[in-house]
Amino acid sequence: MTKVLTYKYDGPRGAPVMKADASAARVDTGSWRVNRPVIDLSKCIKCHMCWLDCPDGAIYLDKDGKPHVDYTFCKGCLVCANECPVKCIAVEAEKK
Ligand code: SF4
Ligand code: SF4
Repeated sequence: MTKVLTYKYDGPRGAPVMKADASAARVDTGSWRVNRPVIDLSKCIKCHMCWLDCPDGAIYLDKDGKPHVDYTFCKGCLVCANECPVKCIAVEAEKK
């Protein structure tokens, strides 16, 4: 049975978050993940490419414009890591 989550607004998101059943907003897509992106904020230039290109809106910006990954909704596609121009998003194996 699909696990339904309550979506919590925690900052601007780059992709529209649909409210339909089975959308990323309602499903814990993080449970699918094999690898996880880890952002090194000390090297981040705040270009927001990761935020714009994440297909699930799983990256949000804090009040200083720094990106953070919401691991409940990050499915580990690693688009963000590929798009980051300064390669400050590392790929780490998921520990289950
Ligand atoms: S790995 Fe994919 S789903 Fe997760 S934050 Fe990056 S682009 Fe979004
Ligand atoms: S793409 Fe890289 S440099 Fe740009 S905001 Fe995201 S983590 Fe920072």
